Amino acid sequence: MTRTTSFQTLAARLDGVAVRPGDAGYEEARSGVQRAYLHEPSVAVRAGGVEDVRLAVRYAAEHGHAVAVQATGHGLNAPTEGGVLIDTTPMASVRVDPASRTAWAAAGTRWEQVIAAAAEHGLAPLSGSSPDVGVVGYTLSGGLGLLSRTFGFAADHVRRVDLVTADGEFRSVTPDDDGGHRDLFWALRGAGGNFGVVTGLEFDLFPVARFYGGGLYFDTDLIPSVLETYREWTETVPDRMSSSIGLIPLPDVPAVPAPLRGRHVAHVRIAYAGTVESGEELVAPLRALGPRLVENVGEMPYTASGTIHNEPKQPRNFYCANAMMGKFDASVPGAVLDLVGPGADVFAVVQFNHLGAALARPPATPNAVDHRDASHVLRVVTLPQGPDRDVAHETARTVTETVAPWALGRSPSFLQGERDAGAQAREYYAPATFDRLAALKAVHDPENMFRCNLNVPPAKGEGASPAKGEGASPAKAEGVPPAKGGDAPPSRPGKSIVM
Ligand SMILES: Cc1cc2nc3c(=O)[nH]c(=O)nc-3n(C[C@H](O)[C@H](O)[C@H](O)COP(=O)(O)OP(=O)(O)OC[C@H]3O[C@@H](n4cnc5c(N)ncnc54)[C@H](O)[C@@H]3O)c2cc1C
Repeated sequence: MTRTTSFQTLAARLDGVAVRPGDAGYEEARSGVQRAYLHEPSVAVRAGGVEDVRLAVRYAAEHGHAVAVQATGHGLNAPTEGGVLIDTTPMASVRVDPASRTAWAAAGTRWEQVIAAAAEHGLAPLSGSSPDVGVVGYTLSGGLGLLSRTFGFAADHVRRVDLVTADGEFRSVTPDDDGGHRDLFWALRGAGGNFGVVTGLEFDLFPVARFYGGGLYFDTDLIPSVLETYREWTETVPDRMSSSIGLIPLPDVPAVPAPLRGRHVAHVRIAYAGTVESGEELVAPLRALGPRLVENVGEMPYTASGTIHNEPKQPRNFYCANAMMGKFDASVPGAVLDLVGPGADVFAVVQFNHLGAALARPPATPNAVDHRDASHVLRVVTLPQGPDRDVAHETARTVTETVAPWALGRSPSFLQGERDAGAQAREYYAPATFDRLAALKAVHDPENMFRCNLNVPPAKGEGASPAKGEGASPAKAEGVPPAKGGDAPPSRPGKSIVM
């Protein structure tokens, strides 16, 4: 009879620490940015390295536990109740190779570390609005960067994924993997958390030391005209211009710059990978809309890119829903403002990101990032407080319904604070992608150990392998029907979001 590893044995073998509820360090291990709720594991492992991750996954498998992973807590969905939480925060390191213009980042690394290390060589990663977000969680769900229209999704530029799979084995997966893991490389980039604990990623860097960017804040009375002009403006700008607009009811607190305090503002954010002169020309129609309460648009080093959005760093309760839009219809601004514009009863931050250009083009190595034909993504952030949580969730989902006639689906990147994320996974992937992911899940994680996420459950029945681990998996993986052309087919515009 095989004896299971005891908690004490696990703890003794780790470089890092293992803690249980009530132990010193337990709260720290499970706490991240999201505070609407926390993971509630029966064991939390603060992983000191790859071997700790292997030990934790093997311990979970022996005990029939789910495995949850957390780096920063920005993307906490589907918290574990019981089970093993692997806290990757101690695994924070970056290596930059200027010759190949690549970086390798360990599981707990935040973008700010990569940005700083890459900048020493005049390079930049495809990081997003907040340098505080984790590299791995961001990239595994797609990764919509500040310069995304110029370079594509972060997931499109991953060169290698190092991970521990459900059988407790360490694997290094690349596009030209000849060990039968090409399908896994496809799945990891778009639905990554479902397939293992990633211990590190290698990805491309880009020669962007400085760029033209910043934010323009307009006062409440200008919100309708700014939103409408922004909508039209995005139809005209070149691929080198990436942007978003946020409609933000700012609190009257000292942390907010004085001119913005207590005001509902429109915040247009731009990141332009072109010359200052042409950037100024492109921004001129926005500036012509009227005075800005605050503006910081100009040439800046990529190391200052976090100042464009200036997102808060402190732990907080938040919920985020989204819809990928095939078209930003002229009726949308009015419909959104009616629901959550200035004077609305419910607090909501609404954001439209401009997509298309490089984001619409298939990557060199296909991946599981869907809805590439979207022109914009609508994101709605609400702040659930106590019993108002349902109201906040309902509000955010209702706002995304305003674009239902043009919705292609939802983006896995922008679902935050959702306890039941797993129940919704079908809304986030095109049907062919979902089916392929589910078939691969049956091969690589048949017990659905990695389910504390936007969970794609293993496919049941024919084509799905009951085999655990990799022994029989490559053959089975080859039996998995790939989506057309090895990539997910575009989903049709006009499909309504299922609520
Ligand atoms: C303020 C803010 C700004 C954001 N800006 C952007 C943006 O500009 N562009 C964009 O695309 N997204 C953005 N996001 C979304 C963000 O990329 C996702 O929420 C992402 O999941 C966060 O990853 P994390 O590691 O920081 O968070 P965590 O909560 O630590 O991790 C999120 C999830 O990722 C998975 N995961 C994390 N690490 C691993 C690992 N090592 N192995 C396997 N699975 C893992 C797990 O499922 C985990 O639950 C933003 C989110 C916030 C809150």
